[in-house]
Amino acid sequence: MTKLQMVDLKGQYARIKDEVDAAIRDVIDSTAFINGPQVKEFSSHLASYCGVKHVIPCGNGTDALQIALMALDLQAGDEVIVPAFTYVASAEVIGLLGYTPVMVDVDYASFNVTAAHLRKALSPRTRAIIPVHLFGQSCDMEPIMSFAREYGLYVIEDNAQAIGADYTFGNGEKKKTGTIGHIGCTSFFPSKNLGCYGDGGALMTNDDELAVKLRMIANHGQQVKYHHSVLGCNSRLDTLQAAILDVKLKYLDAYGTARYRAAQYYTEQLNGIEGLVTPEEMPYSTHVYHQYTLKVLNGKRDALKNFLAEDGIPAMIYYPLPLQEQEAFKPVTRSAEALDTAAELASSVLSLPIDTEITHEQQDRVIRRIRAFYTKG
Ligand SMILES: *Cc1c(COP(=O)(O)O)cnc(C)c1O
Repeated sequence: MTKLQMVDLKGQYARIKDEVDAAIRDVIDSTAFINGPQVKEFSSHLASYCGVKHVIPCGNGTDALQIALMALDLQAGDEVIVPAFTYVASAEVIGLLGYTPVMVDVDYASFNVTAAHLRKALSPRTRAIIPVHLFGQSCDMEPIMSFAREYGLYVIEDNAQAIGADYTFGNGEKKKTGTIGHIGCTSFFPSKNLGCYGDGGALMTNDDELAVKLRMIANHGQQVKYHHSVLGCNSRLDTLQAAILDVKLKYLDAYGTARYRAAQYYTEQLNGIEGLVTPEEMPYSTHVYHQYTLKVLNGKRDALKNFLAEDGIPAMIYYPLPLQEQEAFKPVTRSAEALDTAAELASSVLSLPIDTEITHEQQDRVIRRIRAFYTKG
């Protein structure tokens, strides 16, 4: 039996090896390692796929968030609202730039922030919000956007985990996550739904002025070479990574379907186990299952994780500590309310292996072991 991994990148590569290898060889032959033509080509293909006017490639997802915030011209001490239950990058860049990350609680069922949570954290210093589409499902963006309009706030979507997901508005209109707010940020970290073979990231926007600014900031604050009008940084997507991503983008919908099928199978087989809550799908979003995340009730999470590990089955805790409990944030954050749901999730979530290659046979192994845990008494 093949070893079970959280994410099988090798199996995924094997299926597209010829195409990827050829794309890599082309870049090496051309030696256009920085800003080669593949970077523009991929960016324009991604823009068409997402239905957005501008895609600005950059070095990684964390840089994307930082560049997005830098483009908003906030003042020291201005507040940016962010969920307490997310990956550190969503909030880290806020503090790093001298702004105040204000943490809010999340919805138990969807793991995501809602307009109601954001509203509780509003203050006269609030300038922007960062909804995170956690685990592959969109936040409920329509109420979030009307809340933002009401108070003149910028919306930066952290779309690192949900690229390819569709959000449906009340009138039936659909948009890709990352294209609804003022700026969308994503990551091409290898294990993400659209992953490259190293680091990579991108910003997207429909706003022409913001697009110019984002592009400038990512390129040392220059539009004309050696003429620097604002302070920027150096954040580029390598040509090699762009060439690989351009191959993989063609498969993104098929990858989403494969992940979705695997998730449905887990849910069918695990539903009804007392003390275990399978992921809920929200009516306003498709789910691209970046993670398949269970809630393990009654304090049994760590015991279940160990029981799986004893049988060679990996499972991961995303995320074991909510942001309000992280040392780094204590001096810089302001929490508007008790973050009880974030704390509860941190102590009960468990993500099972899921990727584009996992088979029912492999999933059966995981399912059998989980059932065994609950019947051993
Ligand atoms: C992966 C991730 C990021 C950061 O992406 P990097 O490319 O690793 O910098 C940001 N936010 C979320 C929610 C992520 O999952």
